Amino acid sequence: MANVSIQNVEKSFDSTRVIHGIDIEIADGAFVVLVGPSGCGKSTLLRIIAGLEDVTSGAILIGGKEVNDMAPKDRDIAMVFQNYGLYPHMTVAQNMGFALKLAKVDKTEIARRVDHAADILNLSALLGRYPKQLSGGQRQRVAMGRAIVRNPQVFLFDEPLSNLDAKLRVQMRAEIKQLHQRLKVTTVYVTHDQIEAMTMADMIVVMHDGVVKQAGSPLELYDRPANLFVAGFIGSPAMNFLDATAQDGTLLLSDGQSLPIPDGVSLTDGQIVRVGIRPEDLIVAESGLHLRVSIVEPTGAEIHVGAHLGDTKMTVVLRERHDLHPDQDLIVAPRAGHIHLFDATTEARLN
Ligand code: ADP
Ligand code: MG
Repeated sequence: MANVSIQNVEKSFDSTRVIHGIDIEIADGAFVVLVGPSGCGKSTLLRIIAGLEDVTSGAILIGGKEVNDMAPKDRDIAMVFQNYGLYPHMTVAQNMGFALKLAKVDKTEIARRVDHAADILNLSALLGRYPKQLSGGQRQRVAMGRAIVRNPQVFLFDEPLSNLDAKLRVQMRAEIKQLHQRLKVTTVYVTHDQIEAMTMADMIVVMHDGVVKQAGSPLELYDRPANLFVAGFIGSPAMNFLDATAQDGTLLLSDGQSLPIPDGVSLTDGQIVRVGIRPEDLIVAESGLHLRVSIVEPTGAEIHVGAHLGDTKMTVVLRERHDLHPDQDLIVAPRAGHIHLFDATTEARLN
């Protein structure tokens, strides 16, 4: 096992810069998730750690040792790809042992490690099958088995669950997390899915356009997003945003309603801000924000209410049952201490 240090890494393809100076410290044994929208540079960064791409500048250290000029096979890492990359003409056991065979590990040792990985992954009964005889989830496990047998210092995963259906994805995400709890191998996991990031990570790194927007524990990012991008990206349904102007100690909204300024922030009169309130932090109240309901979606556990405040679309998630109808008025208030304030220009958090 080893820590991974990403130091001021920049990457250009020809003249196009896609990674703009990224620093990330990944502790030994941590499960770190790189998350962000498609095209933000997640796979490129992971491939740089793996040695499949060079850095344009900066350094990658694994276990304290710079690996910039080290070939992928010498970095003691194992990568699991989205499409698994299994060899169709090899059995599960042969697929899992192939890298070891290439590395000229002796046969009994290969068999021992394959059996051990198969045992961990519940694949023991399938070792003689070919990939086409496996379900999607089983193929996914074989791909992980191939990584495990190598007993690497670092696991790298690039969207390993995106080819699975929704139910299997939830199951495999728990399996990967439990596998990490058991093996405690340093893991860097790439996904565009913020729920996967929230549920799996010790530390989430939110990326956008080749920069890190925020790094922290899942709940730090949820409770105190550092900027508008992270606020809108983490959480589902997404946070509501309202334009507001500070006026006489309150936040004046565009349709004339107002909200109190949260404690601990000083705004100057006329300062323009964006107010963020999570759908689950709005409660039905006697007084507060007057909304007009547009759609009511009961999920069973919750009711998701689509509504408007003036022209601004909002979502309210209610745990209690209310008899609500389109076009009715609904008064909601933010839960105390759950208003997020952002500078309208810099998009940075103010409170
Ligand atoms: P993500 O994995 O977050 O979806 P990628 O790391 O794959 O994003 O891509 C980041 C950016 O780099 C994209 O704009 C993509 O088009 C570009 N890119 C990736 N690989 C190459 C390449 N080999 N040559 C040129 N551009 C690339
Ligand atoms: Mg990618």
